[in-house]
Amino acid sequence: MGETLTLAATDGQATGRGGDPSSPLALRGLTVSYGEKPALFSVDATFPAGAMSAIIGPNGAGKSTLLKASLGLIARVSGQVTVFGQPMEAARDRIAYVPQRASVDWDFPTTVLDVVLMGRYRKLGLFGRVSRAERALATGALARVGMEGFADRQIGQLSGGQQQRVFLARALAQEADLYLLDEPFAGVDAATERAIIDVLKDLKAQGKSVIAVHHDLSTVTAYFDHVFLVNVRAMAEGPVATTFTPAALAETYGGRLAATQLADLALTTG
Ligand code: ADP
Ligand code: MG
Repeated sequence: MGETLTLAATDGQATGRGGDPSSPLALRGLTVSYGEKPALFSVDATFPAGAMSAIIGPNGAGKSTLLKASLGLIARVSGQVTVFGQPMEAARDRIAYVPQRASVDWDFPTTVLDVVLMGRYRKLGLFGRVSRAERALATGALARVGMEGFADRQIGQLSGGQQQRVFLARALAQEADLYLLDEPFAGVDAATERAIIDVLKDLKAQGKSVIAVHHDLSTVTAYFDHVFLVNVRAMAEGPVATTFTPAALAETYGGRLAATQLADLALTTG
């Protein structure tokens, strides 16, 4: 019993009462399970503020699960999620989320502008009237992703890259402090990738924190400051320069990364 008290006190000292206030997202012992086998097991992570962080790991590693559990979209078996030092539930308004494009129903009949305005509902309230200012803000967000001419288009009529830009615009309209994106560059054309990375770097320049699940190992060094490697368990975290190493990747991917890919990375990461 005495031991439990001592542990609790030490934990409180190390992390502060609500968690590390300087971290936009901190996970402590996060375990999530859809069935018997955990998708994430006892994961610890501390993402840095004002930085671009990549979450990297093989298919099925629990990357999307990590974002959804951080947002409270799926229940956790155990563990803590703190956002800027507060329990996630208390800081929900400070987080914007761009889900994996493949997970969205694009046949839903709605216009581009409405999708972006949905980003404002938490601030407007469900029955709040959409004011001229709100509409201007949504239009401005569309302009930032190069989609200003598409406001009245049905989302189902857009290309994959255009859909991704619209979802990014919705996240921008939320005026959040933490942006969580699930594979924002998957299946988009080169021009869209460029446009998205420009917007994300702009957010970082404004002091915002960006955390993205990222699948393309060849662009990690160019795009990100910090990496978190995961395969059900946390494998490594830290600055890209010191953490994104062939050895750490080999361990994270097991046998699933081709030797040629590792050799290429050894060249790009030095
Ligand atoms: P990643 O994004 O890294 O590819 P996910 O987080 O989507 O991985 O999935 C992690 C594991 O959990 C996988 O084994 C996946 O099959 C499983 N999983 C994900 N979502 C569900 C779900 N809704 N129901 C059951 N199993 C799921
Ligand atoms: Mg995923």
